[in-house]
Amino acid sequence: MTPGTTLVWLKRDLRLADHAPLYEAQRQARAFVLFIVEPEWLASSEFDPMHLGFALDCVAELRTRGLPVLVREGPAVAVLEAVRQAHGVSRLLSHEETGPGWSYARDRAVGAWCRQQGVTWTETPQNGVVRRLRSRLGWAGRWQARMDAPALPPVDPASWPTPPGLLLADLPTAAALGLPPHGRTLQRAGEAAGWRTLQGFLGGRGSDYRRALSSPLSAAEGCSRLSPHLAFGTLSMRTVHQATEARIAALAAGAQAQDRAFAHALRGFAGRLRWHCHFMQKLEDEPAIEHRNFARSADGLRPGDDGVPMADADHERLAAWREGRTGYPMVDACMRSLCATGWLNFRMRAMLVSFAAYHLWLHWREPGLWLARQFLDFEAGIHWSQMQMQSGTTGINTLRMYSPAKQMRDHDPDGAFVRRWVPEWGRDAYPAPIVDERAALGAAKQRLYGLRAADTARAEADAIQQRHGSRRSGLPPSGPAAQRGRRPASPTRGAEMPAQGTLFD
Ligand SMILES: Cc1cc2nc3c(=O)[nH]c(=O)nc-3n(C[C@H](O)[C@H](O)[C@H](O)COP(=O)(O)OP(=O)(O)OC[C@H]3O[C@@H](n4cnc5c(N)ncnc54)[C@H](O)[C@@H]3O)c2cc1C
Repeated sequence: MTPGTTLVWLKRDLRLADHAPLYEAQRQARAFVLFIVEPEWLASSEFDPMHLGFALDCVAELRTRGLPVLVREGPAVAVLEAVRQAHGVSRLLSHEETGPGWSYARDRAVGAWCRQQGVTWTETPQNGVVRRLRSRLGWAGRWQARMDAPALPPVDPASWPTPPGLLLADLPTAAALGLPPHGRTLQRAGEAAGWRTLQGFLGGRGSDYRRALSSPLSAAEGCSRLSPHLAFGTLSMRTVHQATEARIAALAAGAQAQDRAFAHALRGFAGRLRWHCHFMQKLEDEPAIEHRNFARSADGLRPGDDGVPMADADHERLAAWREGRTGYPMVDACMRSLCATGWLNFRMRAMLVSFAAYHLWLHWREPGLWLARQFLDFEAGIHWSQMQMQSGTTGINTLRMYSPAKQMRDHDPDGAFVRRWVPEWGRDAYPAPIVDERAALGAAKQRLYGLRAADTARAEADAIQQRHGSRRSGLPPSGPAAQRGRRPASPTRGAEMPAQGTLFD
């Protein structure tokens, strides 16, 4: 037991189970738990009030279960200093965070404050992301070792060493913070909801996962829907991994063919848990990718990139895409559905971005900020890597241009999804297509092929592959082929090789 008061700073880890900082603090004589509503978060361009709503609902659940979580508003350093002065904090415990630039800057400021005040700050990893990684060699093995390590039991709030006289104020509301209502129908927040979602998926919902995940008609039910829980840490990645592996083992040992088919479906899901960390690792290793192209040879390619202003026509195209009125029914239906529910399946996310990048020839940053505000599960490392991958600016992934008409034929052949979200489709009220697909994609291909063929771009791609690419075949995807569970083209160089081809999907 360490003398003095221990402070657990909850960030994106809003749970009791498999929580190293809480587990450690519980054994101390006096410990606080703190969640900070940071103005930098609320003011960030990726933020939407639904994110705060979800987080506060998770905090409310922790309090209901008996954990005395202090909630304070203000810049992290100011809040921590106020708590230190009031309660004499000597140790700070938290999980490592791989987030947008504002959270990185705040962590550096908190580190400096700890050094100044003599507070010991211990940060623990909570997923497969490795701090100060020198090489991607062996990364998958490290991921596996972390995920297979024993999960910590949930802390017991009844025996929490709360300092005497601690008073918990009511949780702030979005309205009190001056935020508008988000107006969406969202997934439930909290650890209990996370467990129910996981159990429902492993218990039956996931049996047709591989087939269900591509269509927006079946994916909402057939995908795990764990992404907000992983993003806000109501479940740890290790917990999800271990529950999945246990279920696969039980099903694979079953006599019934349908059990073995279910196990096969879940193996496809299990692989994606590694992708989650693989993509986050890219942001951890190169924080600049939230602002600038992985492949600098792609700089200045599109309006909206640094130094390339957007013309009025580009702003109009962006607005039409955001508002779901491009005249491409599958694109508009996906955008409207996303804006109403905070979730969309992978393939349709990729189609929306491909449309912005190739049909509308827009740089990924503005569309990416818009989508970040629509995704309840916004996770910066996955998000910016995927935005760039689907826009053709990573230098190492196959260029993949989605045809909205083909996506509709393949994944909504009767038009049920489109009619639900775009009821005016087929009537005069529905706009004509805002761009000519053939001309737009022809021009996009010409520019991108030209760019990638240059010797400098090839050399750069090798360096990017070296720094960020996976070293293991089957890991991770470069597009829908991988989403369908196909193996990558070259098992020797991994799935993220520099690719010159364009797949029209
Ligand atoms: C442009 C774009 C932006 C995206 N932004 C985000 C984001 O901000 N946050 C986010 O969690 N996912 C993001 N994804 C990845 C993916 O679309 C979502 O993880 C998935 O749709 C979430 O639903 P689910 O939990 O039911 O997924 P499932 O298919 O059930 O997958 C389970 C988990 O595996 C991980 N996962 C699945 N697919 C991927 C993938 N392609 N890359 C990395 N991890 C994956 C996620 O943690 C997911 O929750 C993005 C994809 C694209 C194309």
